[in-house]
Amino acid sequence: MRIDRAEVIVTSPDRNFVTLKLSTDDGLTGLGDATLNGRELAVVAYLTDHVVPLLLGIDAHRIEDTWQFLYRSAYWRRGPITMAAIAAVDMALWDLKGKAAGLPVYQLLGGASRMGLLAYGHASGRDTDELFDSVRSHLEQGYRAIRIQTAVPGLKSIYGIASNSTYEGNAGVRYDHEPAQRGGLPNEEDWDTRSYLRHVPTVFEAVRNEFGPELPLLHDGHHRMTPIQAAQLGKSLEPYDLFWLEDVTPSENPEALRLVRQHTTTPLAIGEVFNTVWDYQQIIREQLVDYVRSAVTHTGGITHLRKVLDYASQYQIKSGMHGPTDVSPVGMAAAMHLGLAIHNFGIQEYMKHGSKTDSVFRQSFTWRQGMLHPGDEPGLGVELDTDGAGRYPYVQAYLPYNRLADGTVHDW
Ligand SMILES: [Mg+2]
Repeated sequence: MRIDRAEVIVTSPDRNFVTLKLSTDDGLTGLGDATLNGRELAVVAYLTDHVVPLLLGIDAHRIEDTWQFLYRSAYWRRGPITMAAIAAVDMALWDLKGKAAGLPVYQLLGGASRMGLLAYGHASGRDTDELFDSVRSHLEQGYRAIRIQTAVPGLKSIYGIASNSTYEGNAGVRYDHEPAQRGGLPNEEDWDTRSYLRHVPTVFEAVRNEFGPELPLLHDGHHRMTPIQAAQLGKSLEPYDLFWLEDVTPSENPEALRLVRQHTTTPLAIGEVFNTVWDYQQIIREQLVDYVRSAVTHTGGITHLRKVLDYASQYQIKSGMHGPTDVSPVGMAAAMHLGLAIHNFGIQEYMKHGSKTDSVFRQSFTWRQGMLHPGDEPGLGVELDTDGAGRYPYVQAYLPYNRLADGTVHDW
């Protein structure tokens, strides 16, 4: 089973996706997700110019060896672009191996450790009524765990609040998460940590009063706090029994989490912008978080993320894989196969892709009673309609960014 063709396919059905498609001399094809939200074309160039020429002729069964070759032979290691490119190759090789064996990838990883994957969705609102409507709508869709984000009085627009796009190609489309808005410049949003810290506990109190104590609730701080502010937030949310509090401090400094841990028993999650097991080394060893947020796409593929999660399992730290809509259906399928197989699965983030995306990527996963299952098609269970993909060319899109009231740029 040798690779005889490697194509990088960029498509933008509801948003931009980068997919690597590998073909073998015995007629199989495998897919890998290389989408890096807002910086997609950098990974396209990395794959096209530097990786595709290395893949032709290799034995597609040699997954670990290919991973080590791509990682070590580059000399310049780690980073989101490199690791997304390696992830795409890795996923495509697992897809091929599954198809060659006639087995879904989770069977190759050791088989199912559970019946399905508990998933959480994103409820948000500009005020309490809108938030409650959003929570109810998620419950009606079957979600059994829900992330809560709201607007903060006095701030115009902040991360995580659903809004409708005004871009002509997508006018009226509701963005619930990380709206890499199509257009030539990033949107500017505003931020004030003190207002946020005052407001968030009142929101969780209202949600608990309305929906009761059982429903698992999550919240994302999106890297915007200092360690002591994060500690204050964790402590103030303890009465509302969060499933997790995510990304409270900037990801570059693991030591910040020590101080947060000293002050609060609210469970912590981090890692959606991490790329390798080395980013997690101190955090896992010192048990500074409870959940690992990496997506398969952004952490070197199934092969590497499995190593991160096996390491985490020694410390009772569980998975909480990143699953916004910028993780393509291929990347989501990889997450579902890995999550089904590992012992220390925690929860899977799951936002439904748009109908255009679902028409380009044919998927075989199921969503029942708040649980995902990758299905039993051989490989990852996703096929790309290349003609359909061709109908949606790449569109420039940037993530928003924040400024404080005095004009200082702040973490978004
Ligand atoms: Mg997040």
